[in-house]
Amino acid sequence: MKSLIIDQLKQKLGNRATDSQFESSLYSRDLAPVPNLLVNPLFNTAADLVVRPIDTAEVAEILKISWDNDIPVTPRAGASTVYFDSVPIKGGIVMDLNLLKGIVALDESGMMVTVKAGTTWSELEKYLNGKGFALRSFPSSAPVASIGGWFCMMGYGIGSIKYGSLLSQVKAIELVLPNGEVKQLTSDSDIPLDYLAGSEGTLGVVTQLQVHVRKLTSMKHYLLKVKEPDLSRVVNHIQGERMVPYNIHFSDQKYNAVMNKLGFVADEFTGSCTVAVDYEGSEDDLKAADAVISEMMSGDFEVELAEEKDANQEWKEKFLALRLKRGGPSQLGGEVWLPINNLNHYLDTIKEMDKKYTLGLVSYGHVATAEHAVVMTAFFADERKTIDYVLKLSMVKKIQDIGHRYGGKPYGIGLWNTPYIGYIFDNSQLAELRARKKELDPKGIMNPGKVYRPPLLLNSFNFKVAMNILAAVSRAVGRGNRRV
Ligand SMILES: Cc1cc2nc3c(=O)[nH]c(=O)nc-3n(C[C@H](O)[C@H](O)[C@H](O)COP(=O)(O)OP(=O)(O)OC[C@H]3O[C@@H](n4cnc5c(N)ncnc54)[C@H](O)[C@@H]3O)c2cc1C
Repeated sequence: MKSLIIDQLKQKLGNRATDSQFESSLYSRDLAPVPNLLVNPLFNTAADLVVRPIDTAEVAEILKISWDNDIPVTPRAGASTVYFDSVPIKGGIVMDLNLLKGIVALDESGMMVTVKAGTTWSELEKYLNGKGFALRSFPSSAPVASIGGWFCMMGYGIGSIKYGSLLSQVKAIELVLPNGEVKQLTSDSDIPLDYLAGSEGTLGVVTQLQVHVRKLTSMKHYLLKVKEPDLSRVVNHIQGERMVPYNIHFSDQKYNAVMNKLGFVADEFTGSCTVAVDYEGSEDDLKAADAVISEMMSGDFEVELAEEKDANQEWKEKFLALRLKRGGPSQLGGEVWLPINNLNHYLDTIKEMDKKYTLGLVSYGHVATAEHAVVMTAFFADERKTIDYVLKLSMVKKIQDIGHRYGGKPYGIGLWNTPYIGYIFDNSQLAELRARKKELDPKGIMNPGKVYRPPLLLNSFNFKVAMNILAAVSRAVGRGNRRV
């Protein structure tokens, strides 16, 4: 990047622009520890400049300059993603959006809030609760994840079973196009709103969103101990009933055993899977929910109801999924968008895989829609032992392959999931997405190298061959030492 442009932006933004190598290095990774060996020879993750705009006008100005000078721009907010979604891989500018923060307006009668994109979900929830309203849904990374970041990812999380994806709750957004033009998008604008949902920072920068909210209501939580063979059936039953839960999440027996060893789960939960079910609504709604659970307890399910205090605790700890990592030092895994009907087949096959590779696989997940759950299957690794770690990366592909066999696909793309692009989209979907990219960002400056196609070395064929070799070596040298 030309030093003239760097100086120009530094002058404009003052201490909100930096080309310090130290500060840039803080933006060259996300939550996933990936050894330098796999990154540095292939990608330039060092931003030439990190900028922190405070408003739409600054975002537009920075993008216009980048556009005119063909400079790559990578938007980054909470950076709570793991596929290098917000990590630059071609240098250029990282646009840190965390100063675009705050509530613009609350329309109480229309039950709608307008919020700046860098506001976190927890900040918005706190504000809404103070006014008697609440979010319809939010990610389980709400304390750090931004409103814009989740919209630009898939937007399914807590509350999605009842209220749908985030896209279905957003009425309008303000978008700065890659050329610096500011647009208001709705479902029937020239560029429709849905182009941006799941676009992962590749089509422009979302600066403001108008989101539907709900009235703050009471909640009731249940925690069920379920015998593994009944897991799919119980999950399907609960959400097929007349009272739609606000949230359902589940863990397999192995996950509970590992969390027990780490001191986070009580002994009584170690011999079974657990399913947490949360309802929200009026007093009558919560009575109806209670009836659903009571009826299930008297049915032919292999299920036991935990005490209310345990159910309440489970809800309180909804943002603490990463505690699992304490068994690490690192945690690797595959996150799969999976048909719920195939949950048991998937988990059974994961068990078979574990017998073969002795990794100590654990699985947990959230129900996202009436038909799909997002399931994380994880295992421990140690990024400080580079060879062992690289061998273990091949196991992530095995997990995704099992998901694919049962109708699943990776959840989120970024860089590291581009080799699975054929699992995620069919040819016509991919052609449509590439056409949108060409239409809005013909110069390809926004978050280049992500989402639409894998880089040459990660193309499906090369990736498959490399991962199969690593998996074979991994098995032969018995690297997958069972940890727990
Ligand atoms: C413990 C934990 C729980 C999680 N739970 C969930 C969950 O329930 N559901 C879920 O979907 N994900 C979940 N995630 C993944 C992640 O937290 C979410 O996708 C989150 O919403 C990302 O928001 P962010 O602000 O961190 O975005 P970032 O990680 O900073 O960015 C994500 C992508 O969006 C782009 N981007 C960010 N902001 C903008 C913007 N304003 N305009 C244009 N592009 C932008 C970036 O370039 C990047 O490609 C979880 C992660 C963790 C660690």
